[in-house]
Amino acid sequence: MTRRPTFPARIDFSQGQPAPARKAGVMATEVPRRGALERIPLGPQGLGMDSAAVRASMVQKLAAQGVADPAVLRAMNAVERHRFVEPALVNQAYEDTSLPIGLGQTISKPNVVARMIELLRHGVPGKMGRVLEIGTGCGYQAAVLCQLATEVYSIERLRGLHDKARENLRPLRLANLHLLFGDGMAGFAKGAPYAAIIAAAGGEAVPPAWLDQLAQGGRLVAPMVTATGQQALVVIDKTSDGLKQTVLEAVHFVPLKSGIA
Ligand code: SAH
Repeated sequence: MTRRPTFPARIDFSQGQPAPARKAGVMATEVPRRGALERIPLGPQGLGMDSAAVRASMVQKLAAQGVADPAVLRAMNAVERHRFVEPALVNQAYEDTSLPIGLGQTISKPNVVARMIELLRHGVPGKMGRVLEIGTGCGYQAAVLCQLATEVYSIERLRGLHDKARENLRPLRLANLHLLFGDGMAGFAKGAPYAAIIAAAGGEAVPPAWLDQLAQGGRLVAPMVTATGQQALVVIDKTSDGLKQTVLEAVHFVPLKSGIA
């Protein structure tokens, strides 16, 4: 098992009180107020940086870029993204960039993760119910979803990444997470119906199984190749009047593939 580098110091935002013990990886902290952040000297890129402060700065950038849902910002602040990237890329973990996670796949940019989850929640107060994620990858987005949903089912078709995600997520002890190995094109019928479905890989069309497994009133957010041949984010709502599809901005996701490997 490769050991992930850890960060030396933790800064507590509660005015000089010692920081309470927290579960590794996920911290249920509030997004720090601007004033608190300004008092924190951010170290040079990477070496010696404090992960909580750098993550808080990432969250402030997400808010400045238009992510408005406080629950999403809190979840992005709580999950330590640096635990999910290769040791050599740890210095870039809080930059708004996608990064390779092995086997030709990538962890999405924080901005895209936050944007998609904000769309998925669409301002509904409280936690989402059961959520299905297609494309576990390194497990980062699954950890963020676990902050915001009662149950998360995350499925990955590549055994190597499924195993890596399990290893990355183990220290977080997320009791509401179900990691599955299989072809997500078929969804996961045993967990259905889902209040929300989110895909981290884009196909030519949304597989019918996903729509079948979406609850009435549920929402699906996925990258999909549209009429122009470009990939775009697509939102599908299952309403009492049928399916309502909205095509949003262009995105660049890895392809949705069938079968396992
Ligand atoms: N959410 C991930 C992003 C990983 S990239 C993260 O936070 O790291 C998308 C992932 O989708 C890849 O790991 C790819 O293997 C996976 N994928 C592609 N097609 C799939 C399918 N049919 N079923 C399950 N996973 C799939």
